[in-house]
Amino acid sequence: MKIPNYIAGSWVQPGGGGGGGAADYLPVTDPATGEPLGQVPLSARDDVGRAVEAGLRAFPAWREVPTVERIQVLFRLKALLERHQDELAIMMTREHGKLREESAGELKRGIESITQACAMPTLLMGETLENVASGIDCETLRQPLGVFAVITPYNFPVMIPLWFWPFAVAAGNTVVLKPSERDPLTHQRVVELAAQAGLPAGVLNVIHGDQRAVEALLEHPDVVGVSFVGSSAVARQVYARAAAFGKRVQALGGAKNHMIVLPDADLEAAARAVISSVYGSTGQRCLAGSIIVGVGEAYRPIRERILDGAGALTLGSGLEPNVTMGPVISAAHRDRVTGFVTAGEREGARLVLDGRKASVPRFPKGHWFGPTVFEDVTPDMAVGREEIFGPVAGLARAASLEEAVALAHRNRYGNAISLFTSSGAAAREFRYRAGISMIGVNIGVVAPMAFFPFGGSRGSFYGDLKAQGKDAVEFYTDKRVVISKW
Ligand code: NAD
Repeated sequence: MKIPNYIAGSWVQPGGGGGGGAADYLPVTDPATGEPLGQVPLSARDDVGRAVEAGLRAFPAWREVPTVERIQVLFRLKALLERHQDELAIMMTREHGKLREESAGELKRGIESITQACAMPTLLMGETLENVASGIDCETLRQPLGVFAVITPYNFPVMIPLWFWPFAVAAGNTVVLKPSERDPLTHQRVVELAAQAGLPAGVLNVIHGDQRAVEALLEHPDVVGVSFVGSSAVARQVYARAAAFGKRVQALGGAKNHMIVLPDADLEAAARAVISSVYGSTGQRCLAGSIIVGVGEAYRPIRERILDGAGALTLGSGLEPNVTMGPVISAAHRDRVTGFVTAGEREGARLVLDGRKASVPRFPKGHWFGPTVFEDVTPDMAVGREEIFGPVAGLARAASLEEAVALAHRNRYGNAISLFTSSGAAAREFRYRAGISMIGVNIGVVAPMAFFPFGGSRGSFYGDLKAQGKDAVEFYTDKRVVISKW
């Protein structure tokens, strides 16, 4: 099945006319079974141009639709997504590999964004001040800007697009979405449901492809802004390129999240949070726990519990019952994770649980990587420094909370950090000094809900306005100031 683009309300294959020629395609396969699911086109600059033009043409009429009516479409989409949640979760598990309940959880978080975007009438309200000078009043109005590009990664193929486009369109803009080429199918179904909910043609357009399609979006003169999520190296390039072309841009990058356990923590609860944070979604999360720092005498007991918990995980297809960890996305990604583990051994980290030889005999074509644990990880080793994006925990020791936080600060990323403690004073000190954007206290995966900003700092984020919440409204609108005298 050749996966189509969605332009001006029609499903179209790229490369038709405009000098683009026939498009190249990449296979999309089930990472657990190896079953082919479709072929994704690598759209060319002309195809991107057609999608942007569709957005540009739809913008004036969509902007005229009162905000209270625009959000009715999103209310209806929310109801449709809830009605189709089982179908969507199964589709997502087949193309991404995550457990069916993880897919259902992802969908729920995506629906939460839509719900928040439905608050747009209130969120768009401006401010007024009467009599700024004698007989003169001043007010701000929030107005949409035009066509936004949204470029998203493979690890949350539905939730991350929904962090952005519902806010952009509720505010009166139009969108060209470039989803990940690795798992684009489930969101296609979301688009069908959005059309069924009454989203007019051209308001949301989808263009499939790789770097070439992204570059065409970043350079297109009619794209006013770019929301990007992906690895830090690409986020940084996207940020610089889009800014050079005069666009507003928010670019969320990768992560290397530290989890600090103090001796006074509830160790059972901390270990459960660590296991779910490190191994959930097979470690393919920007909020995944990566380095676990045991402070003082917390080290031994947390180490034992992590080893027990990791060793008890069961690999398999996310659609099977009793499976607790799915495959990684591709053979190439499995090889990349293997490369990190091999480098870790070479650099002197102690491998105490090795997932490299994991297999699931009933699925010989699956991309399996088992739970892995390293001890004695230091910040200068590749396993201590780089984002692995696989089911690998690195254990480290610190003598104090201060030393543990300093260890985290030696890393260039700054997405999320967690502390486990029963001390209010330690938690308060941590919150004050953490210096990283998403902070968890006795919480492993620090995922802000849709009415709060989502995004990191340092090497995990390029821009200033984050995803979701009030930042999304700020990003997708311009504040216009009206000064009147009658
Ligand atoms: P990726 O950077 O490979 O791809 C992201 C998007 O950019 C895709 O749409 C892809 O087609 C496009 N792309 C890839 N290379 C490009 C290039 N050279 N130029 C222009 N566009 C390019 O990321 P991925 O592997 O799909 O996703 C995993 C990464 O995303 C991890 O680093 C993860 O931490 C990060 N991520 C971050 C957050 C966050 O909130 N900060 C959330 C989810 C994922």
